[in-house]
Amino acid sequence: MEEIRQRRLLMVPAPFEGHFPSMMNLASYLFSQGISVTVVQTQFNFKDLSASFPDLNFFTIKDGMSESDMKSLGLLEFILRLNSICEPILKELLIINDDVDFIIYDEFVYFPRGVAEDLHLPNMIFSPSSAATSISRCVLMDNQSKGLLPPQEAISQLEEMVPEFHPFRFKDLPVTAYGSMERLMILYENVSNRSPSSGIIHNSSNCLESSFISTAQENWRVPVYPVGPLHMTNPATSCPSLFDEERNCLEWLEKQETNSVIYISMGSLAMTQEIEALEMAIGFVESNQPFLWVIRPGSIIGQESLDFLPEQFRQTVTDGRGFVVQWAPQKEVLRHRAVGGFWNHCGWNSCLESISSGVPMICMPYSGDQKVNARLMSHVWQTAFEIEGKLERGIVERAVRRLTVDHEGVEMRMRAIRLKEEIEASVRIGGSSRSSLNSLVDRIMSLTSLRSPPSHNIK
Ligand code: UDP
Repeated sequence: MEEIRQRRLLMVPAPFEGHFPSMMNLASYLFSQGISVTVVQTQFNFKDLSASFPDLNFFTIKDGMSESDMKSLGLLEFILRLNSICEPILKELLIINDDVDFIIYDEFVYFPRGVAEDLHLPNMIFSPSSAATSISRCVLMDNQSKGLLPPQEAISQLEEMVPEFHPFRFKDLPVTAYGSMERLMILYENVSNRSPSSGIIHNSSNCLESSFISTAQENWRVPVYPVGPLHMTNPATSCPSLFDEERNCLEWLEKQETNSVIYISMGSLAMTQEIEALEMAIGFVESNQPFLWVIRPGSIIGQESLDFLPEQFRQTVTDGRGFVVQWAPQKEVLRHRAVGGFWNHCGWNSCLESISSGVPMICMPYSGDQKVNARLMSHVWQTAFEIEGKLERGIVERAVRRLTVDHEGVEMRMRAIRLKEEIEASVRIGGSSRSSLNSLVDRIMSLTSLRSPPSHNIK
């Protein structure tokens, strides 16, 4: 009888906190289905994951890029550069080691696409973002190329709805704070070039985004697999964070009343203006609600320490009503009964973690997909509201009380809890996300079944 050959899959995550963990969860799942997985890491932001994922193989591309390159180039230019450096290195690797059957790569590290085409390797794109975000990039490019995009200073025009893209306004489209529009269009063209692939995997769920997922399928004419939220697929597997978690905040949460705490975190990249941080600090104090605030070192522009925050803020922390950490175990924090609301920049992982914990949000998006996600949260699922315009202490104070004390916040929490239940059902056996995962595995198996056995080995 012919022996069934194990399929060899190469997975290429983007080296960012908001991208890595979801791809690693998918890698673990695919391994559990009998597929051999090699994860390609970049030297930039390298983290040794072999102890957390002993069943997976790892390979590092020597890209020579560092944190200081990221700072000097800016995020957008850095991503473009990283892709052009990595493409020839990957190609050389795959010419020497011809045992790879299939490639899955993150949409922002699109360099494997050309390699896969040249070597006739089937491949799929992994999008750690919402399907609405994927579509919004195309809407942005289309409007930009037709000259229909209002300039960033035309405030009232930016408030208008984008035709045929309800409920998004022009100001919700994913422009970036990290580079020019011209360069952004080049990046998005690469990120959105998907039709040559065999499918698109989204860290999203049909129960959240069925209409956007259908639109994505029509746009790119390839199967779309909404398999998320991937952090719920296998809760026993967890990707270590790029930063050290301060777990003592969980003990502090134990002492707080149910649904009383506002948890504040802006993800791994967003930077806060000093004046905004000051207004937030005073607003949190004056809200009279307990708060847990993640302030990453260096994330307040121009400030290395928190000494600039006023005495009343320090006193509130000393008295135990406030708690500040540099990095929190966010998923556990959001599942804690004491957390009543989440003040966040609307990174997609944070949105998924928030709704899958039944926690309503205050959205303060900064850049890119965060604006799209904020609109999804506030106008599609209605489990959040957005803070817009100049941030002042009174606005902060009212927003916190609106979410954690007022009737409106209670209603948002009820909607968030209903959504949490739907998401939980979607990742269980028989649920839509679990079925998509099964279809994905079947598709990988069928696309690789015709390939001839390898002669060389990549480990
Ligand atoms: N996160 C965390 N601890 C923190 C802040 C954030 O573990 O104190 C995690 C959070 O759970 C999420 C990720 O960092 O999984 C941030 O990803 P997201 O997409 O929300 O934002 P990004 O960092 O990409 O802007």
